[in-house]
Amino acid sequence: MTLILTLSIINNIMKKLCADCYYVGSEKNKTPGNVVVELFLWAAFFVSFFAILAFGIIPPIVLFILSIGYSLYRLAGGKKVCPNCKHSSMIPTDSLRAKEIIESRGINVGEADYSDSEAPQISKYVRLGWIILVCSVLAIWVLT
Ligand SMILES: [Zn+2]
Repeated sequence: MTLILTLSIINNIMKKLCADCYYVGSEKNKTPGNVVVELFLWAAFFVSFFAILAFGIIPPIVLFILSIGYSLYRLAGGKKVCPNCKHSSMIPTDSLRAKEIIESRGINVGEADYSDSEAPQISKYVRLGWIILVCSVLAIWVLT
């Protein structure tokens, strides 16, 4: 988990060049899936968890697997896009193709904008952390 977080931060603050609109900066992470679906699955899990006596152990187990699976899919399946034109055409500034573009267009790489590079990435992990924390606290509270 820590490794993934560190790697994604390193990857995120890396300067990239967009081959389509020549934007220089860091990529943006586009989260796949839908937050409403994710919350609905977790809500359904909690409901089935509290109704364990009525419906048995199978529904909460199935819903838990679905919920954690969907959360991980959203977390891991992030698509890197250019924050300016939304195309997935960002290339590292030290690549040969980027250097050609930078030289021929006279782009100033030093003026890169990193204003919103890290925050969205970290908040994703914080969000999943909260879900798991609330989940565990509720589970412990119910079981004891
Ligand atoms: Zn672009």
